[in-house]
Amino acid sequence: MRILLLLCLLLSNPALAEDRLQVEGYSLENGLQLLLKPTAERGHVAIRLVVGVGFENFSCAEKELPHLLEHLLFSGIDAIGEAGLEARMQALGGEWNAYTRDADTSFVIEAPAQQQRAVLDLLLASLFNTELDERKVAAAKRVVERENGGHYSNLQRLLDQQNLGREAHQQLAVELGLACAERAPLAALTLEQLEQLREDWYVPNNMTLILVGDLDPRLPAYLDRSFGTLPASELPEPRELPTASHTAEARRSLFDGLIGDRASLHWIFPEPWVGEHDAQTWELLSDYLDWQLYRRLRIELGLAYGPWSERNVYGGSSFFSLNAELQRSDLAAAERVLRTLVHDVQRDGLEPETWRRLQQAAVAKQVWAVQGNSALATYYWNALSDYADGHFRDPAERLQKVSLKQANDAIHQLFQQPGYVRIEQPLLSVVGLYWLIGAVAVALLLLMFAWRRRA
Ligand SMILES: [Zn+2]
Repeated sequence: MRILLLLCLLLSNPALAEDRLQVEGYSLENGLQLLLKPTAERGHVAIRLVVGVGFENFSCAEKELPHLLEHLLFSGIDAIGEAGLEARMQALGGEWNAYTRDADTSFVIEAPAQQQRAVLDLLLASLFNTELDERKVAAAKRVVERENGGHYSNLQRLLDQQNLGREAHQQLAVELGLACAERAPLAALTLEQLEQLREDWYVPNNMTLILVGDLDPRLPAYLDRSFGTLPASELPEPRELPTASHTAEARRSLFDGLIGDRASLHWIFPEPWVGEHDAQTWELLSDYLDWQLYRRLRIELGLAYGPWSERNVYGGSSFFSLNAELQRSDLAAAERVLRTLVHDVQRDGLEPETWRRLQQAAVAKQVWAVQGNSALATYYWNALSDYADGHFRDPAERLQKVSLKQANDAIHQLFQQPGYVRIEQPLLSVVGLYWLIGAVAVALLLLMFAWRRRA
């Protein structure tokens, strides 16, 4: 009871809203984690319900289960179905959506402050009162198939089997044994598997509810009465994340469509773990290399408009890559630029002045990067692992702590590896197409000529 009184006090005192990293967090008796952040922005509440189940909890054959369930939970709580559910949310003036990611499935809601409890009631009903049936499952499968790029054709499957048709990073992950070789199948997934998933993973001790904005002082008591009554249960054993178990080709060309003159170049390196401030080090190095790529490929040579560096995680491994979209005739020149860049960094290290400037910019950005209730709620969602004892760790301070030496050591380790080059381009260039048409026309003429001579 004392906690509840304290919370009521907190929620009615906007002065406590100042420090965005200070957030009231506690868990209900059933294990549900709550993060409450009253802010000075009135009239609106941003809600994120994070359920700790995502793609990585399932094998390749069952990978789409959590995503399929996410869709099904919007299929309706009564006879009026999906349209009825949506109409109820509209009547409350709110909006909702959901996302399935590698490690979580999250329900994202924006709502008027005066409806916050009604909206949470509706969310609870859709999670736990939606009755699944074969018709709903079939409809959700059609939607998910469309989201995944439409029907998985035999041609696409053949290209995937031949390692020819995937996006570059995904292709490397498949070769290394970190990602599934074929698109996750939907047809075989059953109603029983979906029910089991909800029973196993949609339990309060596997959920975090984040509420940000003009919070109702009665919220803690309401949450106790509503979410607090969900029964806790033991979670299934988490799956082990795949680790790199195969070797990959050093270089590969991939098909990206049939005809065209565009191409994209990707040079991908496995990211070594560099100890404390690992994430911040790579974040800052990404800024640094973005700038170097932009300077060399765009400003100096005009080869690419928006070259970029990128970080990707597959299974238990992360990758850092240098990337550019170009004309295919510029591929060789652009690759030379990348190799020179890597060579220069290996020989001379990072330019201290540029490094400091970009580090200061990254630190300064933290002040304005997250604005408003919605952005703040999303920030908390993505930074849950950085929360402890009423505080999120300060990103500005952590960025500030990365030393030039640590960054130099990291980039040196990264570029010491040969890395993997992946080039995506259409099967034929436009010139190649003309040559093909020309060759076919000549062959036809010759055939006709030979046929006439014989006639
Ligand atoms: Zn979806």
